[in-house]
Amino acid sequence: MTTLLIYVKNNNSMNDLMEKIVSLCKRRGVIFQSSEIYGGLANAWDYGPFGIELKNNIKQAWWKANVHNRYDILGMDASILMHPKVWEASGHVQNFYDLKSDCKSCKKRFKTEELKDKHKCPECGSELTEGRQFNLMFETYQGAVGDAADKIYLRPETAQGMFVNFVNILDSRHPKLPFGLAQIGKSFRNEITPGNFIFRTREFEQMEIEYFVRPQDGDKCYQSWVEERLKWYIGLGIKKDNIRKREHGKDELAHYALACTDIEYNFPIGWSELEGIANRADFDLKQHSQLSGKELKYFDEVSKEKFYPFIIEPSAGVDRSLLAFLVDAYHEEKVREETRVVLKLNKGLSPVKAAVLPLLKNRTAIVELAKKIAGDLKKDIYAVYDDTAAIGKLYRRQDEVGTPYCITVDVQSLEDKQVTVRDRDSMLQERIGVDRVKEYILEELNK
Ligand code: ATP
Repeated sequence: MTTLLIYVKNNNSMNDLMEKIVSLCKRRGVIFQSSEIYGGLANAWDYGPFGIELKNNIKQAWWKANVHNRYDILGMDASILMHPKVWEASGHVQNFYDLKSDCKSCKKRFKTEELKDKHKCPECGSELTEGRQFNLMFETYQGAVGDAADKIYLRPETAQGMFVNFVNILDSRHPKLPFGLAQIGKSFRNEITPGNFIFRTREFEQMEIEYFVRPQDGDKCYQSWVEERLKWYIGLGIKKDNIRKREHGKDELAHYALACTDIEYNFPIGWSELEGIANRADFDLKQHSQLSGKELKYFDEVSKEKFYPFIIEPSAGVDRSLLAFLVDAYHEEKVREETRVVLKLNKGLSPVKAAVLPLLKNRTAIVELAKKIAGDLKKDIYAVYDDTAAIGKLYRRQDEVGTPYCITVDVQSLEDKQVTVRDRDSMLQERIGVDRVKEYILEELNK
């Protein structure tokens, strides 16, 4: 009865897939264009009721795997605004540039490194300006005066907030090497070529770990984080064929990195970075020591030595991960000559775990029972009650946001005290006693 429509990954169908995902996100309240009623702000997006649930579930899965389930990583949350010297020490003031070229005729702007012909506009063929340096940091002013002395930046990465707190963490929690810090938060980059939905935006969220190790353990630790992070995505359902690692060549490495590997995902725009894992050596702690005048060394109580630990940094994007999970989960199936769109998300990531649907919304007893079941489920999982359409439509809407279980209350339920539980993937329906519904769903979710 069910036939899978498999996407052939040529460019057309992949872009078609991106369009389908953008449209599903709008239609179902996952992601909206920012400020749409004013014509929209380009490349800025708002997460709707289901989008925020999915995003929170991704962040929680990351936090659980990297903070709560480990003994060696501590969480923190630094402020977005930091002392401007931080960005001198990190190299962002001096090095965080892209070259941009502008078309003299159509005025379009391009990232110089992405141009095949550095002098000719790829859109209209006219002459381009020479590549000009463009710092990617957003500048702003602190306080009322707004002169140059008050200039600060919106952070372009969360990492620095963890480096500058290194001594605070040592003094307050006394961790021993190797140990890590983890943080999730917003970052801002004035990207020259944002686009491709939430893949590249100017405001985005990162999930970063700074893992401090003895210098001699740096390389081994870096290699093991690459494997660890790859496993995390696969464990949450990303298909092995759609994810790979790519080590940077020496000429590609950032100024602070000894080595770097990207975890790439096969996005509709082609294989692109999902997460970067870098061996930053002792660059950051040394730099901050020099500029702040505070010693940021680790004291080893056994050898009585003081040294700068190496830092291994797995740095992932929340929004890019969310896009990868959406792309990977998107399925179209033919069911009785109709196309069923379903997000086969990992159940733990699904925005809603169960939807309770009354078959007849004008029968008070049915509505009351359905609301009671939903209320009871809500104590343990995120469940919704929905009576805004006929049952077929309600099933389709829940399939499109990846809800694993739909529970339908019908006339018979009032007599036999049973409801129908429908499985998202198999579409099989089972009659379950009302008093067993919660136990059944919890068991299924934990399988
Ligand atoms: P890219 O090469 O795509 O610009 P990057 O190498 O500059 O990325 P990092 O500085 O390593 O990115 O940041 C770590 C992660 O943060 C990236 O792997 C990505 O998931 C996310 N990220 C970085 N820039 C953006 C952006 N503009 N929009 C959305 N996510 C981003």
